[in-house]
Amino acid sequence: MRIRGLIDRVDLAELADETVGIVVDYKRTRNKRFDVGEAYHGLSLQLLGYLLLLADQGETLAGRPIRPVGAFYVSLLQGYESVDHPADAADLAPDRGAAPRGILDTDRIDVLESEAPPTGRSKIFSFFRKKDGTLGNIDRGDGAEQEQFADLLEHTRYKLGELADRILDGDVGVAPYRLKDFSPCQWCEVNSVCRFEFGDRGMRHLVPMKRSEVFTQLGGDE
Ligand code: SF4
Repeated sequence: MRIRGLIDRVDLAELADETVGIVVDYKRTRNKRFDVGEAYHGLSLQLLGYLLLLADQGETLAGRPIRPVGAFYVSLLQGYESVDHPADAADLAPDRGAAPRGILDTDRIDVLESEAPPTGRSKIFSFFRKKDGTLGNIDRGDGAEQEQFADLLEHTRYKLGELADRILDGDVGVAPYRLKDFSPCQWCEVNSVCRFEFGDRGMRHLVPMKRSEVFTQLGGDE
């Protein structure tokens, strides 16, 4: 099984004892977010797949292995924002909405953000540490502890293998998913060929999961 893709950008930091890297995927959309719950179900594996590639085959020109520590979407279109009067729109920062959003191993935040405070909110990435040093508001931020990050990558490896096995086994069953109020059938261009009736039996109803729930689940799977 060969998986093809194109990583927009890889940033590396060569340290004394290791080389760490992050991948960036630019999106021509607004406010693109990475949903860990979708990744858990095997639906949104692009960013994590890039990280696996970096972990398994990435190396510097000098042959040093690369330890992946983050993957991010960067939306190229600015997000919408409410203002009280149209004239106030001119005061909005021109680069708002361009913040990277994805998944980050906060164990190496010192490399990615040299002035990152030991507690509090990061200026570059979406996460913050509480006074006791643990991550706060995990469900809304992008931070993950080193072990959670590693668990997610291993789960992605398992999911990719599972999907590949099903394809190689000839599994072509029509079994679309539904997650919250979304199903790909709503926008499918080949619906008239497939003829799957939305709401039909055979739909896989997936359980929505928050980031914290995914991390807890993966930690318990060990
Ligand atoms: S309409 Fe058919 S092909 Fe399209 S997403 Fe649904 S199940 Fe898949």
